[in-house]
Amino acid sequence: MHVGFLGLGAIGAPMAAHLARRGPLTVWNRTAARAAEFAARHGATVAATPREAAAADVVITCLSTSTDVAGLLEGADGILAGLRPGALFLDCTSGDPASSRRIAARLAERGVAFADAPVSGGTNGAEAGVLTIMVGSDPETFARARPVLAAFGKRIEHVGPVGAGDALKAVNNALLAVNILALGEGLCALVKAGVPPRLGLEVLNASSGRSFVSEVLVPERVLTGAWPRTFRLALLDKDVGIATGLLAETGVPGPVIELAASLLSQARATLGETADYLDPIRLTERAAGVEIRG
Ligand code: NDP
Repeated sequence: MHVGFLGLGAIGAPMAAHLARRGPLTVWNRTAARAAEFAARHGATVAATPREAAAADVVITCLSTSTDVAGLLEGADGILAGLRPGALFLDCTSGDPASSRRIAARLAERGVAFADAPVSGGTNGAEAGVLTIMVGSDPETFARARPVLAAFGKRIEHVGPVGAGDALKAVNNALLAVNILALGEGLCALVKAGVPPRLGLEVLNASSGRSFVSEVLVPERVLTGAWPRTFRLALLDKDVGIATGLLAETGVPGPVIELAASLLSQARATLGETADYLDPIRLTERAAGVEIRG
């Protein structure tokens, strides 16, 4: 099975590397040097245009936003110009449900099946090939998608119709954001109250306030000061914005997630487009005049 992969960013590249080991792969990236570097390292054909990359049995996109995916569809060099009827299109972007439904409808006009298939597990999970993948599609499309997604996924779930994967991913990342913001505040207060942060975290992690952020992210990245850049704050901000849209669309009051969205947007404006998603903790540290290290 020939796969075309578009979007070799922080998470797209390690996902595509698994596909390169399984069979013929064509890659395209907006910044062409990244595609050339990927092909030299993992073995793949570099496409000059999205159209060329889309002339495959399965086309996978992993771009920043649904808007970016929609922007690659049209035009003489666009994805639609290269897609063959009967192909399968999987969008691993953390997208927004309404855009995914529009993209699915446009592809259906060409006889191409679509699934939104956003992923969770970070760049480490992508490298290890153990991502969680939330798929929104009809059941037949999911049955075709599953073996392809298994190249880089471990838990691959069909969660509903097109858009459902995006909705679930947005809620997941809203919870991630709430945890990051609240834990940053709580730990700064604990440092000021005289609790050593490593001890405080250990006790939290043996208690009911624990989360992925307290068990993994803060101990490995903040306490150590290692703070690698693996996921841009701009992308988390985008995801929490999708979650607030979902709340509005479904008529669910969501003051907590809306506040998190507002705080993240402010942090993004202050820290810029390349900041890491844990960097809002630095803003809290700065405002509190303490650091969470140890
Ligand atoms: P990056 O910012 O590292 O990479 C984004 C990719 O999209 C790059 O290949 C970039 O091309 C491409 N791109 C962006 N805009 C356009 C455009 N208008 N036209 C064409 N190509 C475009 O992002 P990530 O790889 O981290 O994230 C990709 C998706 O995966 C996002 O939706 C993100 O929310 C999601 N995600 C990321 C995770 C992570 O840990 N990083 C975890 C889970 C999900 P170029 O190289 O030219 O900039």
